[in-house]
Amino acid sequence: MVDLGLPVVPSVAGRPDNPRLVDGFGRIATDLRVSLTDRCNLRCTYCMPAAGLDWMPGSQMLSDAELGRLIRIAVEDLGVTDVRFTGGEPTLRKGLEELIASVAALSPRPRISMTTNAVGLARRADALRAAGLDRVNVSLDTVRRERYAELTRRDRLPDVLDGLAAARAAGLTPVKVNAVLLRGVNDDEAADLLRFCVEHGYALRFIEQMPLDPQHGWDRSEMVTAAEILELLGAEFALTPSPSARGAAPAERWLVDGGPADVGVIASVTRPFCGDCDRTRLTADGALRSCLFSTTETDLRGPLRAGAADAEIADRWRAAMWGKLAGHGINNTGFAQPDRPMSAIGG
Ligand code: SAM
Repeated sequence: MVDLGLPVVPSVAGRPDNPRLVDGFGRIATDLRVSLTDRCNLRCTYCMPAAGLDWMPGSQMLSDAELGRLIRIAVEDLGVTDVRFTGGEPTLRKGLEELIASVAALSPRPRISMTTNAVGLARRADALRAAGLDRVNVSLDTVRRERYAELTRRDRLPDVLDGLAAARAAGLTPVKVNAVLLRGVNDDEAADLLRFCVEHGYALRFIEQMPLDPQHGWDRSEMVTAAEILELLGAEFALTPSPSARGAAPAERWLVDGGPADVGVIASVTRPFCGDCDRTRLTADGALRSCLFSTTETDLRGPLRAGAADAEIADRWRAAMWGKLAGHGINNTGFAQPDRPMSAIGG
């Protein structure tokens, strides 16, 4: 067969001739979340069993070169402007600094961020910053050492606090802190977490717990809702709606005691924001997902390893995003939780 260099993926019915990641509901994905590994050095009870999960075999994971190529296509051909590394725990990925440097060298240069538990950040923050990382989101559900050890099954709170401080000192700012409140576990700590973050200059975001646990044990009635979080905070702080535009940001924000500090709540379940979603997701084994809750994926690793040209990969990506659903459907009857847990999708 003669290769004419034409895209092999057929055009998708109704899709406009637009190089960007448009979908059928008028949204354009510009924010790429890349999972670098499904492994983690913590075992947060709501995210991973004590023994860990069946990790992806190394041969199934994208190599650095493959990852770099897909990110380049996303940025240079598909209009992605923001790249967020996540996992699993992205700092466990060997060659992270080099990967970041290669993304920072793209044109136009995307904004580069990382979601991390910060366990190993203290000794790497400067190198990550030098490589081109712009900022970090650090996951921290409690500032009490014993509770942290119970919740994560690892006694690493001091390392995390050092990691946060190092991130701020290195200029990986604004340093955001993500917290999930769990009923009867840490829901008495909402105000303490906010006080800690305000004192240290970190921007706190509470995240409603979503049905993405490996046990498939999520229970809506157990979830601490945005309304409850605001009530808990409101008992100790004066919260006023933030005047800054929300855009496609998942967090609704409030000024704390008049500002400038603010606090955000990411209410994916009780106040979904799918209509403004601008995200596209790549798993560590090269599966493309248009939503955290997608039950279908588009394989990019296969075509990549079969020698597909950039144009074909880009077309597959466009076709996958064109089919993005209007919403995640958590609140629909018949909602089916995806097979992959959060740690294997990339939170
Ligand atoms: N290891 C990195 C970290 O700790 O930030 C990145 C991956 S971790 C899966 C990303 C975030 O997902 C964490 O903030 C974690 O609390 C959150 N998370 C895990 N399971 C969740 C769930 N079921 N609902 C909401 N957030 C969840």
